[in-house]
Amino acid sequence: MVTPQAEPELREIDKPTPGPGQVLLKVTAAGACHSDDFVMSMPADAFPYPLPMTLGHEGAGVVEELGPGVDTIDVGTSVVVYGPWGCGVCWFCSQGLENYCSRAQDLGIFPPGLGTAGAMAEYMIVDDPRHLVPIGDLDPVETVSLTDAGLTPYHAIKASLPKLHGGATAVVIGAGGLGHVAIQMLAHLTSARIIALDVTEEKLAFAKEVGAHEAVLSNDDAVANVRKITGTGGAAAVFDFVGYQPTIDIAMGVVGTLGDVSIVGLGDGKAAARVGYWAQPHEVSVRAPYWGSRSELIEVLDLARDGVLDVAVERFSLDDGTEAYRRLAANELRGRAVVVP
Ligand code: NAD
Ligand code: ZN
Ligand code: ZN
Repeated sequence: MVTPQAEPELREIDKPTPGPGQVLLKVTAAGACHSDDFVMSMPADAFPYPLPMTLGHEGAGVVEELGPGVDTIDVGTSVVVYGPWGCGVCWFCSQGLENYCSRAQDLGIFPPGLGTAGAMAEYMIVDDPRHLVPIGDLDPVETVSLTDAGLTPYHAIKASLPKLHGGATAVVIGAGGLGHVAIQMLAHLTSARIIALDVTEEKLAFAKEVGAHEAVLSNDDAVANVRKITGTGGAAAVFDFVGYQPTIDIAMGVVGTLGDVSIVGLGDGKAAARVGYWAQPHEVSVRAPYWGSRSELIEVLDLARDGVLDVAVERFSLDDGTEAYRRLAANELRGRAVVVP
């Protein structure tokens, strides 16, 4: 539960009842994302929705009860929740890209944990059964973070796949919850050389454990040190899971001609590109992707079923949920904190 600019706190609330078209889940796992930290630090007047609010936009559960009119999923099914809820009918939603719904804001539709009650609870309401993806025998605790820490990097990486041929270099900045899954995806989906950047030796070692070929400290020398590895050609794709000016500058400093820079971290800054006759690299694309599509979540879960993804999970009870957020803010986690109610 969160109120503006305050620590999260544990509160007793009533078990919710699913309304028409809704589904009640008994939560099996809820992931803590760095974006929760961002939400908690927002000023009170910046929230477009009522507070306090239950956090948790990475959710897994077992279908407990169906609201009137729901007949496309069975009670007892183990599922994860596709988080970026949209209207379901606009052009973007029609392609499964509910993360880019053009009407959500006008209609006041918010993701669970980011505007409506989320998964950091014993029960949660899901607005529509189409937001549920059955996971079969997959362990919900190890799978839940794929709904964001898996889906978000997958969406970003997929857009750059044509650039990541053999001999190309991919750079991952920030080997945390999202970054450590991104490294595994790049290692499986491409033959590119992967360079990871982070701020501590522990995180660099972790990045190598999950598949990075090289690990470089993210400091003032980072551009030069990455360029020693890539040569003057630079990187074909850079994924920035921090998104503040120093890392955006590193991303723009190491990308090569025809390269992609995807700024995923919800920090603050501007990506400055040089232009003009002598300006190199040429034809760089800069994107700030948000989450991913419904079909991409299904693809990510298929990768998990194939044994390709191994999310590093630190488990917490619901009572210890606030401790999970403290450790996340202090950058003490290895991978993802998952609350198991
Ligand atoms: P995390 O805290 O688990 O990981 C962040 C990692 O970045 C840590 O390993 C940390 O050591 C590292 N880091 C911090 N400063 C760094 C620097 N200067 N250089 C290199 N590495 C640095 O966070 P997370 O949950 O993985 O989220 C990462 C970011 O992505 C957050 O900003 C979050 O809000 C954002 N996010 C965006 C989307 C989206 O759709 N765009 C979705 C989910 C999360
Ligand atoms: Zn998130
Ligand atoms: Zn829509």
